[in-house]
Amino acid sequence: MSDDGAAVVAAVEAVAERLERERDHLTELDSAIGDADHGGNMARGWAEAADAARDLDDPEPETVVKAVGKTLMSEVGGASGPLFGGSLVFASAEITDGITAETAVAFAETYLEKVEDRGDARLGDQTMVDALTPAVHTFKKSIESDDIGTLEALAKAVAAAERGVAFTVPIRARKGRASYLGWRSVGHQDPGATSTLFILEEVLATAADELDADVPAVDAASPTIPDDETEADAADEE
Ligand code: ADP
Ligand code: MG
Repeated sequence: MSDDGAAVVAAVEAVAERLERERDHLTELDSAIGDADHGGNMARGWAEAADAARDLDDPEPETVVKAVGKTLMSEVGGASGPLFGGSLVFASAEITDGITAETAVAFAETYLEKVEDRGDARLGDQTMVDALTPAVHTFKKSIESDDIGTLEALAKAVAAAERGVAFTVPIRARKGRASYLGWRSVGHQDPGATSTLFILEEVLATAADELDADVPAVDAASPTIPDDETEADAADEE
């Protein structure tokens, strides 16, 4: 078993536990604008996915992600199963050679593209895309332009996703069941964006754990600017 393979299994287990703890919370969000099944869908789907991940003989990042995706596709009904599951299966091809900063960015971008493609949803439609887009953009920019470490880039991505979740509240749903409500969807937090944030938070916590590091503190109000640069700018202005 590769270390990275074992780390991905640990992340999936952490996600499964978190989504079980958030079951009622996600159900509550989905009952306001949907059919009250998102908590159950996610908790059950990820519990089965964790079983599938643990059952793999020689887990590698790609095979774990693929097994999780396939399980979500077959076990989770509704819109979210094929969106989360199918996109994970598709994006797993980006980590065939393992996880590096570069392959992690490619994975994130491919995953986002696939979710947009399958759901025909774009930023601002009050869906999971609203949490994912800022997370993926911030992660890519942090790594490719700001040249900061993967763990800190991931922390910035999580902070960006949090702001994306908040953004779903004051806008109208244009995809999924919530869109049937029309303007009445305004004022509600999207369940799929929220579960996406929980998944990212657990991936971050597991990554920090595996690296024996603390979760880096980042400035959520300015998630793409490296902290030392912010300090340098502040010093310039003095
Ligand atoms: P269902 O809507 O079929 O009951 P879930 O309740 O499990 O499925 O998931 C609902 C979530 O799925 C929504 O909160 C939203 O984030 C996401 N979603 C629904 N439709 C789409 C879509 N077309 N594109 C992207 N995300 C979508
Ligand atoms: Mg639902």
